[in-house]
Amino acid sequence: MKSHYQIAVLPGDGIGSEIMQAAEQVLRAAESRIGVKFALSYQKAGAQHYVESGVALPESTLKVCDEADAILFGAMGLPHVRGADGTEIIPQLDLRFHFDLYAGVRPIRTFKGLPTPLASPKAAEIDLVLVRESTEGLFYARGRSETRADGVYDTMQITRKGTARICEFAFKLAEQRAAQKGRPGRVTSVDKANVFASMAFWRKIFEETAAKHPGMAADSAYVDAMALNLVMKPWTYDVLVTENMFGDILSDLIAALVGGMGMAPSADIGDRHALFQPAHGTAPDIAGQGIANPTAMLLSVAMMLDWLAVRHADQALADGARAIEAAVQAAFETGIVCPREFGGTSSTADITRAVIGGL
Ligand code: ATP
Repeated sequence: MKSHYQIAVLPGDGIGSEIMQAAEQVLRAAESRIGVKFALSYQKAGAQHYVESGVALPESTLKVCDEADAILFGAMGLPHVRGADGTEIIPQLDLRFHFDLYAGVRPIRTFKGLPTPLASPKAAEIDLVLVRESTEGLFYARGRSETRADGVYDTMQITRKGTARICEFAFKLAEQRAAQKGRPGRVTSVDKANVFASMAFWRKIFEETAAKHPGMAADSAYVDAMALNLVMKPWTYDVLVTENMFGDILSDLIAALVGGMGMAPSADIGDRHALFQPAHGTAPDIAGQGIANPTAMLLSVAMMLDWLAVRHADQALADGARAIEAAVQAAFETGIVCPREFGGTSSTADITRAVIGGL
């Protein structure tokens, strides 16, 4: 247990710096409540930094991230800033590969006091986590595309090690959630095992992992059926686990179920390092206006505190995470604020102030 935690902070591009300002203010408010100090080390990286310096992710930034207790990340990438192959500058992917942050954890739940995009009253019960494998899958092809005379080929990689560790992570998470919530747990694997041998292999490894966790319900679904079911009956799911590309797409879909990208936090977790960032991107369409919803970023801060709490056996940090979540919930439930995605008029500063008030 320590009294002082080092946090590498990478605000990035677009709304990244706006929501990071909110994160720092809320972290400072939590600090005084839980009696733990955070030393924030702001680092340069991102598409704008690439324009200015020719480097998207400096070595110095990597070093600070490596030495930090955790990494807080805003958002990076700008649509008009592209590399020679036409793809965007996306340092978050480099960070995932560099630090082997293989588990992309994306929890979503409905917040009382906010309208839900789904009409069913059951939408109030949505509370699920998508676990995205983040180091292989179709994203393995990034930087390895093969150009042939007839076009460009991108290869998907599904290894035994990569699949086994992400499935194991998903089952452990389901076990923790079942214990916390006092109800049975379930893991649903999302694949396309009816078409691709790589995905049939994924399913086999998933089922082998499931057999080691007999206390957890386990099932598999095809990704196309899952896209349907996540809209028709998302309240029936607990933990989902899937390969990188399917996880990328379904992450945005599940964020929409609870009101949009501004509500979806995430964590990229490895065995030694972890990075916490909202599931959304830089939102260039609303950047600079002070209207970004900071909720996803603030809930990502809570995820960071939870991860540090387990790693350092420090209950004060877990208390801080619960306090932030409760303050966010209270801000919406009491109607003090309503983000613009929900038809409200609250600015980034309004929501931040309400959460700090709650803390
Ligand atoms: P990326 O590919 O980098 O993840 P994306 O293509 O998913 O990005 P986002 O930047 O996440 O795109 O934006 C998608 C939509 O969600 C945009 O209309 C954007 O304004 C909105 N959005 C994203 N984040 C927020 C936020 N924090 N508050 C309000 N709206 C947001």
